[in-house]
Amino acid sequence: MFIAAIALIGVVAAGPARGAADGRLASALPVLVGQHEAGAHAHATLNLPIAPTTAPRLPHVLFVLGESLRADDYAALVASGHVRFPGEFPDRITLDDHRTPSSYTAIAVWSALTGATPFGKDSDALGRVATLFDVAKAVRDRNGGPLAITYASAQRRDVLERPNTLAGVTTFSVDDLVGHAVDDEDDVIDLGVDQRLAEKVVSLMDSPGTQTTFTVVHLSGTHAPYYVDPSQVPFQPWSHTVSWNGLPALRNAYRNAIVAQDAALLRMLTAFRRRVGNDPWVVLFTADHGEAFGEHSAIHHGQNLRIEQGHVPAFVAGGNGALSPDMLAALTRYAGQRTTHFDWLPTLAALLGVRGTLPLASVEPGFAGRSLVDPARPLGALAIGNCSASFKCPLDNWGAMDEDHIAYALPWDGDYACLAQQRSRSDRRTVEEIPAADNASCTHLRALANGTFGHQPGKK
Ligand SMILES: [Zn+2]
Repeated sequence: MFIAAIALIGVVAAGPARGAADGRLASALPVLVGQHEAGAHAHATLNLPIAPTTAPRLPHVLFVLGESLRADDYAALVASGHVRFPGEFPDRITLDDHRTPSSYTAIAVWSALTGATPFGKDSDALGRVATLFDVAKAVRDRNGGPLAITYASAQRRDVLERPNTLAGVTTFSVDDLVGHAVDDEDDVIDLGVDQRLAEKVVSLMDSPGTQTTFTVVHLSGTHAPYYVDPSQVPFQPWSHTVSWNGLPALRNAYRNAIVAQDAALLRMLTAFRRRVGNDPWVVLFTADHGEAFGEHSAIHHGQNLRIEQGHVPAFVAGGNGALSPDMLAALTRYAGQRTTHFDWLPTLAALLGVRGTLPLASVEPGFAGRSLVDPARPLGALAIGNCSASFKCPLDNWGAMDEDHIAYALPWDGDYACLAQQRSRSDRRTVEEIPAADNASCTHLRALANGTFGHQPGKK
């Protein structure tokens, strides 16, 4: 019975992982639409006060959000030369222990775009949280001009908790890329949606304009079933078939998909550099969550937050004076520490020169993360999980993490497992997780998880 249950979550994982966005949208929309119908449009569209930058020169921003990229596979592909995008930034600061608070796309993306924890909030509260688009829309450059903001996505538009956050943002979604409404991205992955997205981004970057650009690129092709470019298949044999004894071939398809995605990213980067010229720029890179290939009885993602699903690649790079010596020093200190998706929006606010300014006074108290370009602050303890008020997960699974521990439980666990992070000696990268001897951290994390979610998974 135990084996059967484990096998089931592995098999069903691909479905709910995408269904997450739909499930969340279904519960988020009535809040927003209902208010709109009642005439309370101000609640549905969150407009922050105008926020003049304090940065000497506003940088162009390119924030790349990958899909299902596990840190170890991505690092290996960079090291072997199969993936070239990070290597385009020799001075990048790699965040070696970057963790997602969720391995469901919608919750992970929402966390990265809002900097706020979704756990323990009702769906009404989730619908009122500002996103990085709301912040970017408020920013003004030294001449009072707004940013040219783009959300270039190969995913469904409704992956965002708050659809109205995209009002006034140039937006491409998977629907625009394939020319019709898409119910499930998995159905169109074999069309090469990241490659189509690259064409859109290149064309936009090359169109005339003098505004500072703020571009979020949200990729999709490395989600199961994994887009493979038939002309570029270094990893053999590969297969799209999901089976417990075919995992090596499935993982080769995944690796080939990362290689295909890299080519699309390089095209976008070349266009970004043409657009930027000699202006300051920053590039930020991460992925929503990782991917399991049989580890801890799971395939794909969404079943737990063990290292293969929770540890994702991340780096920050800048040029033409965008990163001051103090910012670089701060980033370097964070490089060997645990960072999370909650850190992205505070970091972007700092890079845009609006962190700590009055127009953000209503937003910043909600940040669960830290600006990685300001003096280091401790991570503290954070709830993590795959269930939120607006996404009813098929199987309860949640916990909490701090700098060196993760406590996590599945419905059939007697208690939260508490895991210690083993770091490599040379660069402090997390290399594995081992059961921790019971300690004060574990006790605190268990209590935080129970307090946030109301009870231990399966123990209501
Ligand atoms: Zn995802």
